[in-house]
Amino acid sequence: MERKYTDVTIERTKKIALIAHDGKKAELLDWVSRNKEILQCHFLCGTGTTGRLIQEKTGLPVQIFKSGPLGGDQQIGARIVDGEINMLIFIWDPLEAQPHDPDIKALLRIATVYDIPIANNLATADFIIHSRFMSEEYVHPIEDFNNQIKSRMETY
Ligand code: PGA
Repeated sequence: MERKYTDVTIERTKKIALIAHDGKKAELLDWVSRNKEILQCHFLCGTGTTGRLIQEKTGLPVQIFKSGPLGGDQQIGARIVDGEINMLIFIWDPLEAQPHDPDIKALLRIATVYDIPIANNLATADFIIHSRFMSEEYVHPIEDFNNQIKSRMETY
């Protein structure tokens, strides 16, 4: 099937989701504190425990979803689909198995489908946050799913 693309704009103010597994929460908190000046210019949200900790320890406002194992990753994934979140800082723990592994995979998959910037470690998060696109609009082509649905329907 021929793929068609449509331009999507990530506004100047980014809508950033922050998630860290338990073994990585301290690292993410430290990173957020170090980058508070930049992050305060953007909209922040996070899974239950991560979001609350960031809010409490840094004073930054954070929209808080359910805890990851209770569906928070899925809530964030759904908002990526709707264009309400357009950046993901997800510091998952490669040394610890998680009960909600399928949700984690689903979130990483959907973030890739919608071509949003994803950091899975702090070095990548640093590169992203110091990119010039953080203070500019960014236009990127993503697959036109409406077009895909239309042509799939035509096969029946
Ligand atoms: P938490 O969820 O912020 O509620 O700990 C994160 C996760 O485990 O995905």
